[in-house]
Amino acid sequence: MTRPRVGIVGAGQLGRMLALAGYPLGIDCTLLDTSADAPGAQVAASVLGSLDDPRALAKLADVVDVVTLEIENVAVAALESLDGHIDVFPPPAAVAAAQDRLAEKRLFRSLGIPTAEFVTIDSEADAASAEALGWPAILKTRRMGYDGRGQRVVDSAAALAAAWRELGGVPSIAEAFVEFDRELSLIAVQGARDERVFYPLAENVHRNGILASTIAPYEDAELQRKAEAWLAAIMSTLQYRGVLTVELFHTKSGLVANEMAPRVHNSGHWTIEGAVTSQFENHLRAVLGWPLGDARARGHAAMLNLIGRLPPRDTVLGIPGAHLHDYGKSPRPQRKVGHCTLVDEDRARLLERLTTLRAVVSRSNQ
Ligand code: AMP
Repeated sequence: MTRPRVGIVGAGQLGRMLALAGYPLGIDCTLLDTSADAPGAQVAASVLGSLDDPRALAKLADVVDVVTLEIENVAVAALESLDGHIDVFPPPAAVAAAQDRLAEKRLFRSLGIPTAEFVTIDSEADAASAEALGWPAILKTRRMGYDGRGQRVVDSAAALAAAWRELGGVPSIAEAFVEFDRELSLIAVQGARDERVFYPLAENVHRNGILASTIAPYEDAELQRKAEAWLAAIMSTLQYRGVLTVELFHTKSGLVANEMAPRVHNSGHWTIEGAVTSQFENHLRAVLGWPLGDARARGHAAMLNLIGRLPPRDTVLGIPGAHLHDYGKSPRPQRKVGHCTLVDEDRARLLERLTTLRAVVSRSNQ
């Protein structure tokens, strides 16, 4: 029997965890990236080249059966150049919608999914239109924003105009500031016959725009039902295949969608040890047209991102229920270099152990 071959555009930590999830299933992953030392290229075969270069993508397509991606900020035209040669999942049109905050918000609204109020900012003169949102507001570039990059909180039209210039004067949106009680995310998977599985909602804490920690499941049957209906509508409209993540704000008046990612997501890392089937395995199963795995949680899980540098391995592993993931990156401020997951059947004990883990991690960052 021939081994299934999956090509992954991008070889960051998400590509690495996809490739690792493929091993037990006998899947050979090949990852496209610019560096042979990228986290994913350290554990699987790689093709070197720019993610936006149609020739590099063609080289990848030559050695695999299907192409997927671990990063949404790639040139859609380059992905489209593979059309007719090889299947690309999720479809490039879904990637296009997810990489433009304006297209994404319009899609959400067309499906009746609430979002923050917003206006488009394409010039300094547009800043005045943001008055209607109230202050503070958040300026976000339409494209290439991640981990808090390409955004500024502003408290006047003049500050917004200045921030727009500082961010490069590129097409942007201004969003009303959402007073949320908590941030949640939902990860869903759609397979080849449009069958779907949904992970439980996860609760996320961000610091400086970067995900700091996730606790799952966030148990609220009504919110779960509502969010699942939204993701089902998005996936059905986009003829989706693979993992889709939507980040949500939980406010006094209900859920508001913030953004979506057409890929496996940091807020789903807990699923490796904390769910019956991880998001990484389920993404591979979906793109290969295989049956999807059970997405239920096994007890309670907490994920802590390791940002800047890794804590001592032995100290982390001394905490009962702790798992360490090292992405093989060199230390650098604000860089995600790994994560830890704690799993426990008892939520209170999980939270105690999370406090211990946080202390270990923050000591190692001093
Ligand atoms: P994003 O890149 O849109 O995911 O934003 C990163 C983080 O900034 C979010 O997870 C929130 O913590 C915060 N944020 C983004 N948009 C808003 C908003 N409209 N109101 C309040 N906080 C926001």
